[in-house]
Formats: sequence, C-alpha cells, structure tokens
Amino acid sequence: MSIKLEHLNYVYSPGTAYEKQALKDINLEIPQGEFVGIIGHTGSGKSTLIQHFNGLLKASGGALYYNGENIYGDGYNMKQLRSQVGLVFQYPEHQLFEVDVLSDVCFGPKNQGLSSEECEKRAREALELVGFPEKYYRQSPFELSGGQKRRAAIAGVLAMRPSVLVLDEPTAGLDPKGRDDILNQVEHLHKNTNMTVILVSHSMEDIARYVDRIIVMNQGEKMFDGKPKKVFSHYRDLEKVGLAAPRVTYIMHALKARGMNVRTDATTVEEA
Ligand code: ADP
Repeated sequence: MSIKLEHLNYVYSPGTAYEKQALKDINLEIPQGEFVGIIGHTGSGKSTLIQHFNGLLKASGGALYYNGENIYGDGYNMKQLRSQVGLVFQYPEHQLFEVDVLSDVCFGPKNQGLSSEECEKRAREALELVGFPEKYYRQSPFELSGGQKRRAAIAGVLAMRPSVLVLDEPTAGLDPKGRDDILNQVEHLHKNTNMTVILVSHSMEDIARYVDRIIVMNQGEKMFDGKPKKVFSHYRDLEKVGLAAPRVTYIMHALKARGMNVRTDATTVEEA
C-alpha cells in the first residue's frame, strides 16, 4: 500500500478574496511500512497535505495514487480509503463522546456494520496496541488523564485496522512525560506492525528521535525529503525557515543514540 503524490496542488477558497495556495507541486511517494515525519513551521501546509492522504481534501490539481490507484478516478471507493488511511487529528480527545472508553473505540468498526463481538475484539486489540490499561476500559473517556485520553482516541482509529496511520501533532498540549509516553508507544506500534506511520510535528526533537525519513514543508512546498541525517545536514536552511536549529546539538545526540554516525561542531553538521 503505497501513497504517491504527483504535482499535487491545493488552493483554499479559489476565486475569492481569501484564496490561498496551501500546497504547491508536491511530489512524493511513501512505501508501506515506513515511519515518516512531516515537519514545518505553522502554516507551512502540513495539515493540508495529510488531509489529502485519506481523501478529506481533494487536490485542486495533480494526482494521488493509493496502492497504484488514482483516488480521483471515477468510481474510486473513498470510503474504503478512509478506513485504510486512519487520520488522528490534533487534540483527538475532543472527539471522544461515548459512555465508556470501550464503546468509544468500538464506534468506527460499528459504523462499518461489524457485529458487536467483532467490534469489541477490534477495540480491545487497538487499546492493547496503544498500551491503554484494561482497568479503565469501562471508565468515561472524560475522566481520563490527558495522555490516556489521547491513547483512547488513537485506539479509536486503530480499531479500523488501517494500513496507514497519520498523526497530526499527537503530543500537542501534553507534558514532557506524556509526550515521551505517546511517542514511545507510536514507535512500539510501528515496530510491531507493518503499518505506515506518518507523524506530523513542529518539533525537531520528536522527529529526530523516531522517524526513518523526514519531509520538510515550507510555504506549501516540499523543501527537503530524506533520511534524518541528510535533512539535518541542511540545518542552516532549516534555521532560516524557523525550525528549532538552536537545538541542533540535541538533535545530533538523538541521531547518534540511534546509531547514526554523525559529527557535529559549533558551526557544521557533517556525516562522519
Ligand atoms: P500547518 O498544518 O503546517 O500549520 P496548514 O495546512 O494548516 O499548515 O495551512 C497551510 C496554509 O493554508 C496556511 O497559510 C493557512 O493559513 C491556510 N489555510 C489552512 N486552512 C485554511 C482554510 N480552511 N481556509 C483558508 N486557508 C486555510
């Protein structure tokens, strides 16, 4: 299941005074099983881009192929695409609403018309995947801690058994421990399934610690796309577009901790 974008453009409110080209000529391909980070300053086009992955937004120009099929082609099954590409929005806990966690996580599979037994099986499997403690399954989602709420919300998407999981700023608003817990869990999830994971973040640190590949967005364009080591070697350019370059030493340590051989000094970052 690969995702491929060809010359993709997106314009908000075309032909009005509010017209805004949010994506400009995006070309990229994400093979199944990759762990990709999308990074960029606020307004660079990250959210707009990921909403194309599951067809929530339709490109103004260009094409998007999912598993080789043009999703804008006649008769394409958009509903199926939405269940295969699971999108976890920012602050996903705002969408929790059922009486208890298990019912909430069951909501997606239930909507697909699956039996109650199958829904519960999938919900339990999804909650386990995100490390949600069983003792809270029957608790109201509103009584949970911030980190647990977020886990429950991610489980709600996983219960659809997607092939691709897209997370938009999954650590927003969490304390440092909650942030590490969620990201470690996402990493664990990626290691234990063949799911493609696409992590949107504005945090260089989060991205450096986990992903195999980084896509840098800037003003609606793809600025860099490659392995972390390669992308971070352009750190002066990253700094120019407002991406946390002062912490470059930290990033290099994070890469080293993952066994990537890099050399840093005060002014340059080079491959050793
Ligand atoms: P990011 O996720 O990187 O913060 P977005 O994709 O949300 O960026 O936004 C990209 C650009 O599109 C920004 O200039 C933003 O103001 C604009 N934009 C986003 N949503 C809308 C909308 N609904 N209507 C008009 N412009 C929008």
